[in-house]
Amino acid sequence: MMSHHGSCHCGAVTFEFDGEIGDAVACNCSICRRKGSLLMFVPRDALRITAGEDRLADYTFHRHSIHHRFCPTCGIHPFGEGTDPKGNAMAVVNLRCVDGVDLDALKVLAFDGLSL
Ligand SMILES: [Zn+2]
Repeated sequence: MMSHHGSCHCGAVTFEFDGEIGDAVACNCSICRRKGSLLMFVPRDALRITAGEDRLADYTFHRHSIHHRFCPTCGIHPFGEGTDPKGNAMAVVNLRCVDGVDLDALKVLAFDGLSL
């Protein structure tokens, strides 16, 4: 399986994850619409924080079920953490923070997070 590398803007936070990047998800919830993230869901154990885990800030709202992790130095949100409807630990990677991704080539699927 492919391994991908990403980071926040200043480089304090770096991460890797395993998975095939295909479609991206654009969510219309109150935070994603502001961030403009392009998302990919992976099992939490497929994500490895390779630097800056101690620096990562954590923002939650609404039901506080999703942890929106961000770098407090540069303000970039590289990924979030939560659980899927079956209770599996998941990560949601912001593909805009991943090296070498051709963002224009991604098929973007709309996700109605606003209604959750
Ligand atoms: Zn940063």
